[in-house]
Amino acid sequence: MLTNNLGYPRIGSNRELKKACEQYWSGKTTIQNLVQVGRNIRQQNWELQKQAGIDLVPSNDFSFYDQVLDLSLTVGAIPKRYHEVILNKGNSELDLYFAMARGYQKDNLDITAMEMTKWFDTNYHYIVPEFVKDQQFKLFSTKILDEYNESKRLGIKTKPVIIGPVTYLLLGKEKEAGFERIDLIKNLLPVYIDILKKLEEQHVEWVQFDEPFLSLDLTDKDKAAYKYVYAEIKKQFPNLKTLLTTYFEALKDNKELATSLPVTALHIDLVRNPEQLQPVLDVIPSNLILSVGVVDGRNIWKNDFKTSLALIETAQANIGIKRLIISPSCSLIHSPCDLELETNESVLTPEIKQWLSFAKQKVDEIVTLKQLVNGEEAAAEKLAENINANENRKTSSLIHNQAVKQRVAGITTKDENRENAFAIRKEAQHKALKLPLFPTTTIGSFPQTPEVRSWRAKYKKGDLTLAEYDALIEKETEETIRFQEESGIDVLVHGEFERNDMVEYFGEQLAGFTFTKNGWVQSYGSRCVKPPVIYGDVHRPKPMTVRWSAYAQSLSDKWVKGMLTGPVTILQWSFVRNDQPRSETCTQIALAIRDEVVDLEKAGIKIIQIDEPAIREGLPLRKADWQNYLHWAVRAFRISASGVEDETQIHTHMCYSEFNDIIQNIADMDADVITIECSRSQMELLDAFADFKYPNEIGPGVYDIHSPRVPSKEEMVLLLEKAKSVIPAAQLWVNPDCGLKTRHWDETKKALIEMVAAAKVLREYV
Ligand code: GLN
Ligand code: ZN
Repeated sequence: MLTNNLGYPRIGSNRELKKACEQYWSGKTTIQNLVQVGRNIRQQNWELQKQAGIDLVPSNDFSFYDQVLDLSLTVGAIPKRYHEVILNKGNSELDLYFAMARGYQKDNLDITAMEMTKWFDTNYHYIVPEFVKDQQFKLFSTKILDEYNESKRLGIKTKPVIIGPVTYLLLGKEKEAGFERIDLIKNLLPVYIDILKKLEEQHVEWVQFDEPFLSLDLTDKDKAAYKYVYAEIKKQFPNLKTLLTTYFEALKDNKELATSLPVTALHIDLVRNPEQLQPVLDVIPSNLILSVGVVDGRNIWKNDFKTSLALIETAQANIGIKRLIISPSCSLIHSPCDLELETNESVLTPEIKQWLSFAKQKVDEIVTLKQLVNGEEAAAEKLAENINANENRKTSSLIHNQAVKQRVAGITTKDENRENAFAIRKEAQHKALKLPLFPTTTIGSFPQTPEVRSWRAKYKKGDLTLAEYDALIEKETEETIRFQEESGIDVLVHGEFERNDMVEYFGEQLAGFTFTKNGWVQSYGSRCVKPPVIYGDVHRPKPMTVRWSAYAQSLSDKWVKGMLTGPVTILQWSFVRNDQPRSETCTQIALAIRDEVVDLEKAGIKIIQIDEPAIREGLPLRKADWQNYLHWAVRAFRISASGVEDETQIHTHMCYSEFNDIIQNIADMDADVITIECSRSQMELLDAFADFKYPNEIGPGVYDIHSPRVPSKEEMVLLLEKAKSVIPAAQLWVNPDCGLKTRHWDETKKALIEMVAAAKVLREYV
């Protein structure tokens, strides 16, 4: 029985890679220096895993930006617009690579970056491969070979990891009409063959092919491609050991296909889908090795050895110990690096810390599980410790709050519904709010200047008292209110200056959440996030935002919108408990937000926005599971929104979403107003609402907030006319695409003044 890892975090325990990359990009360090930082991280990771006792240590899991982009460079899928970067003297392969990831504005060239999107249902983003009709592939970057040889020189014979060719094609996008990217498989495979040849020349033993698409919905063509590819590889490399990995979903209807592919070992995710073990064992052929993913690569909980051992024993009873590999469920790049760096007990208490495990600890868990299966004495103590910690977690009073559980159990349909239907609420709201047609508003945040952030840093360090900090935030809020009044915006916001982040701010005030000091996970490129940890039953000990909203409202005769983050988004952007269904945790958060909504109303706030940008990204990977998810997600939103009078207007906001296939569910949320990101699609995203005859009010974003560019009144008038041609004028609001926190004041002011002018033009037509 072997121990295996699918991938190790490459950001460095102290985010060394982030720092080195950003320094290189800003010209503050040399490429040699950056390359050396990468080399150090690889060496540390390999040695750490080797010393821990991992048999199959991965290589090529390192990346300066993204593993999908690495592969695009490896197989020479370099879009034409970058060819000039290659030709430019003085540019290295790494410069070309960063140009593809981040765009290139130098030497009279202005080349846009490649698109980025989420890696399956994780918060990791990959660079989307671009394919054209006559796409050619050839071995371009030798990174995979170089890293393998580098590990060999260090005396560690690694297992190179490569995204499988079918998954690679499916991850990409057709950039012109007239072909299907899966048909490129015949062009692509020879490059893989080339790579494998070169690896074999270097005496590689194992190669890992990541094929997560094997556990998703596949077309017949995709299936045929799988058969073709792995048969060819087997034919040409009969002695190579191949590990085919799947994760994030169960094989389900693809299990016959997956187990029939001529590979040495198949990896399945038994954390997400423990129920798939037996069905896979039922069909597994007698020569196939099974890699069981029992240690959670995507969450921060300590493994439950008893549960893992039970799974391993089931597998062992069916196929024997020699045909087993013990692994994490997926690559550990989705876990933070090292729990031992969490030494600040006021941030993470020892009681909670003993329930957790980060990448370094997970590697040890894999090895300990093997020792336990082998009955090694040394491991017995570790098992006892593990059982203790998990028992403590099950029964800790920190986690369980009977009042919260009872409240969730007691939710009635009344709690999920506003008092009256939208048609009636609308009348009450219009009477109370007296807003013009095409009311103007913003999405919540105003520029978070370095100054504003420095106040928070000083306050946290103790260099500012709470009173001093609050006074500064109040002043910033007041100036923002005055600007909005002067520019003629109809529904004001307070600006969110007191918030570090739209989830962390709420997590810090809710019971059941904790934080880490160093629990960073790569989100994309050099950007890392530090998700809060939801460990216990969630409730709201006291109001969270009322003070700021009430203060802002007290400054103005215009309406000031209250600003909250919705339950699904808080859930989606946190590390979530694994001891109860996500839906249960989400419902608890929904009740906490509901309490806040009710308190805002009591404090005189008449318009309350509950942001849910993450609803769509929470969709399960298999379509068959969508409705179940959407049911509880929409219900959670409704619970949070339904505690108020008809007259109180509930808004929601969503960015970067497509709505076509979930429009019924969006309508079921029953927000009085929804604002969406729309400008970059030239209002096309509105069509889903128009076709559906969406009854409630909508604010399609009229300008892109990702760029400093100031839009003109005329172009926004055009967009609004377009909107008006598909949605009745009486239903339309006017607002930017999203919050303005990343923008500068100068461009923000100019853009909003133009936006108000555009709304006025529209009012005159009607
Ligand atoms: N209210 C938040 C803001 O304005 C919304 C952010 C988001 O949708 N991502 O920043
Ligand atoms: Zn947004």
